[in-house]
Amino acid sequence: MMFNVAEKFVSINGEGTKAGQLAVFIRFTGCNLRCSYCDTKWACDEKTAPHTKMTAEEIYSYIKETGVKNVTLTGGEPLIQENIKELLEIICADRELYCEIETNGSVDLKPFCDIENRPSFTMDCKLASSNMEEFMCEGNYSLLSENDTVKFVAGGKSDLSDAKEIMEKYNLIGRVNVYISPVFGSIEPKEIVDFMIDNKLNDVNLQLQLHKIIWDPDMKGV
Ligand code: SF4
Repeated sequence: MMFNVAEKFVSINGEGTKAGQLAVFIRFTGCNLRCSYCDTKWACDEKTAPHTKMTAEEIYSYIKETGVKNVTLTGGEPLIQENIKELLEIICADRELYCEIETNGSVDLKPFCDIENRPSFTMDCKLASSNMEEFMCEGNYSLLSENDTVKFVAGGKSDLSDAKEIMEKYNLIGRVNVYISPVFGSIEPKEIVDFMIDNKLNDVNLQLQLHKIIWDPDMKGV
């Protein structure tokens, strides 16, 4: 059981409910989508992305050696890695760890929901500006609960209106954590705040990618 690991490092979690806390990141190569604004394009093509082969045991050992509790599995799209469920089972069996998996919303989450102490899903909802909205797996919303997050990445005003419709359609607010994040350089965070005020979006969070604020926006491994 080998995994293609593009990079692994300790940093702070830039997004979601653990934002600002230390996290150990495992980034896998390969993605089944090609979003217009992707900032990890270099890791998306399985054939060309630089990577190291690691076994599940090696990944788990690395995680433990860091001494960091929060684990973020990301990509690319981590859930398309062959045997990812076995790795998740190993990590989730360790109750000292908090495992979060960032997924793009196009992969059916059902097969992963029966993992004991299952990971927290941070699931993207791709909007029109991504050019990928048709690939969203609609059945996933009903599988999410209060430990999970839906992240809307908005590239403009019409994305924001679409996001609100989806929040209502799937009754997301109050049931899961809901974040709206700007496409870096495409929309000002203030426009999102204004939209939230105008639409009285209580319990919705504006999210700014901390990594892009702290480090160079194109920097890898942070
Ligand atoms: S899903 Fe994520 S990694 Fe894949 S293309 Fe879109 S932004 Fe990039």
